[in-house]
Amino acid sequence: MAKALFIDTSRCIACRGCQTACKEWHGLPAVPTRQRGTHQNPPDLNPFNYKLVRFTEAKTAGKVEWLFFPDQCHHCLEPSCKGTAESFAPEAIVVDKKTGAVVYTEKTANLTAAQCKEIQQSCPYDIPRRNDKTGILTKCDMCIDRIRADLAPICVKTCGTGAMNFGERDAMLAMAHHRLGAVKVSHPKAQLVDPEDVRVIYLVTNPEPALKKQGKQAVESYSRRELLGGLVSPFRRMAG
Ligand code: SF4
Ligand code: SF4
Repeated sequence: MAKALFIDTSRCIACRGCQTACKEWHGLPAVPTRQRGTHQNPPDLNPFNYKLVRFTEAKTAGKVEWLFFPDQCHHCLEPSCKGTAESFAPEAIVVDKKTGAVVYTEKTANLTAAQCKEIQQSCPYDIPRRNDKTGILTKCDMCIDRIRADLAPICVKTCGTGAMNFGERDAMLAMAHHRLGAVKVSHPKAQLVDPEDVRVIYLVTNPEPALKKQGKQAVESYSRRELLGGLVSPFRRMAG
């Protein structure tokens, strides 16, 4: 059955347990880093960090808010990264039939730097990163090895606050809409991010600043939807 994650950022306390557990499960090495005046560390996704908790400060009605966003691949239902790879390397990116997870294979190493760039630029959420040494294109694989062994993705297993959830897609969608109703009482701007288009459904309390650092296209996409409101296709609208 098709799987999904529901990430409720209103419950995220930015402990970064998910980020660290992801590195450990995938055997990814540490990345040299330094203090940059923010708790967001490393500063961006990279070939050794498939998951990154983003920190954003926002001012709402005179009050400063600290927004946490555990960023990762959204496992799109119709992944534009795979669509782009289709013409030059159809087997480099695969969609797992059982779960719907979008998985990058080692065959991405055969792609040229220009082809990788094309794939990267096609992602609306600015997710894939290229390892320039090996040529491999990287991102979250939904812990497909764990799912096949009837285990939840390691980020979900690690999260102690209920921010990370995993299960059948219908159940995750229902949970997301239920939580949205509750969260909207205290955060009227709360939204689900593209719930009909993805297998990783985010609930954000303050969408524009929360998504800003996730990628230019994501913000433009969000702003466009805000402007067009009901005129856009229901498949591209945020719920809420
Ligand atoms: S979020 Fe980007 S990398 Fe992930 S499946 Fe969608 S298009 Fe591909
Ligand atoms: S483990 Fe949970 S609470 Fe901690 S940063 Fe990740 S999503 Fe947030």
